[in-house]
Amino acid sequence: MVKSNTDLRTGGCLCGHVRYEINMEGSRTGNCHCRDCQKNGGGPFMTFTTPQTGHLRWISEPEGRAQASDYAMRRFCVRCGTPMTWEHLSKDDMAVSTGTLDDPVDVTILYEIYTTSRWAGIPAIPGIRQYPRGTASD
Ligand SMILES: [Zn+2]
Ligand SMILES: [Zn+2]
Repeated sequence: MVKSNTDLRTGGCLCGHVRYEINMEGSRTGNCHCRDCQKNGGGPFMTFTTPQTGHLRWISEPEGRAQASDYAMRRFCVRCGTPMTWEHLSKDDMAVSTGTLDDPVDVTILYEIYTTSRWAGIPAIPGIRQYPRGTASD
């Protein structure tokens, strides 16, 4: 079977003001259970996809920027508030909110991070890596 190295998809915010194109090939998707994501997403966790460098192209960029920590920012749509990205301020490391894909239902979740703040009623996804903190520190 010939494996394609292109899995081109589109996505955007709730109101459509922010739009992007992403090549999902080689990307990594995980659930983040950290307290920041619970606050920012308003739920038990947020799901983020880290694309390969250069694999995300903005058609219309998110204009909202908020400092997310000492070393990261989150970008969002200024019209509808949809959280769009988590981005490292000084190195090439960014992730896009997976739920903003136009068709996210078949995206494979590879890992879960910051599981120490997982809600009691949210079970771990069976068979995937669980990291108490971020993947880099594990
Ligand atoms: Zn919007
Ligand atoms: Zn998080």
